[in-house]
Amino acid sequence: MVKLLHYFHTIEYIYRSLRSKYLDLYKENINETLKILLEDNIIIKTYYTEKIQNKIPVIYDRERLFFNNIYNDEYCITNNAFKNIFTKKVTIIGLGGIGSWVAQSLAMSGVRNINLIDSDKIEYSNLNRQVLYNTSDVGKLKVFVAKDKLKKINPYLSINCFNTIISDVSDMKKYCYDSDVVISCADEPSTKDLGIIISKYCYPNNIPYIIGGGYSAHTGSLGITIIPNKTPCFECYVATHDKNINNIEKDFKVIMESTFSKNNGSLSAISGFVGNHISLDALKLITGFGKPYTLGKFIDFDFLKNTWNSVSAISQTNCIYCGGINV
Ligand SMILES: [Zn+2]
Repeated sequence: MVKLLHYFHTIEYIYRSLRSKYLDLYKENINETLKILLEDNIIIKTYYTEKIQNKIPVIYDRERLFFNNIYNDEYCITNNAFKNIFTKKVTIIGLGGIGSWVAQSLAMSGVRNINLIDSDKIEYSNLNRQVLYNTSDVGKLKVFVAKDKLKKINPYLSINCFNTIISDVSDMKKYCYDSDVVISCADEPSTKDLGIIISKYCYPNNIPYIIGGGYSAHTGSLGITIIPNKTPCFECYVATHDKNINNIEKDFKVIMESTFSKNNGSLSAISGFVGNHISLDALKLITGFGKPYTLGKFIDFDFLKNTWNSVSAISQTNCIYCGGINV
């Protein structure tokens, strides 16, 4: 009987398959055996009703099982997770060494509504870490190449491409007004200045946002993830960063400073590490499963020493956006 346990096989199917060999078998025997196997944790229960099967494309079979496991078989919650994945809109600003990984991962996870914002063309020197591009794409605009690649990964995608940069709050209003999550992966005008622009729009408009970290040589930094009215804002994070910078270990000081720098060197594996972590936190914001790893805090990794450090943002009492809110 154990060989017949598969989410495509109903109890009726298992019964019929065994009945010809075991003439005195009843359906109750199968139910009773399953109950014992479940109670002893020899098997786990997952749901694969026709209703869910019709709604969730087969591409996401393993992802559906992931949510089933997390939610302990409450398939209505799994359905709700997918409803959020399929309907919420994510804006990704910057499609370079971080943003290309974030976009790829979210598209693979089933996110269907994405705004892409970037003004750069693809260069040969991008190809060691920017996962969506190859040699035939050099010279083309990143937003359009990324759109084509992502649609091959996820045929249900609806993508808006904006060949531009975000330089002030009015740009945010123009391009991000319909976003459920905004992810910053760009360094124009600078990581810090862009983070402040995003924060000034997203915090008062109650849009969760991730200032997506970065990399420099053997280091990588993650976050910070901000949920308005639940965590301090990005400007308060910057104030915390500036206060901490003289009180931390020299190595991590270099990492924290480099997060706000441009033109850092990196490896594909480090870009992917940072980008995929950010993508996971974005998926947590979208679905509500688990707490984002970087919620209200910045985490940096030293890949030579295999050590990490984190700094939690502290809300400044006089902040007009988040005064007094701490995680
Ligand atoms: Zn604040």
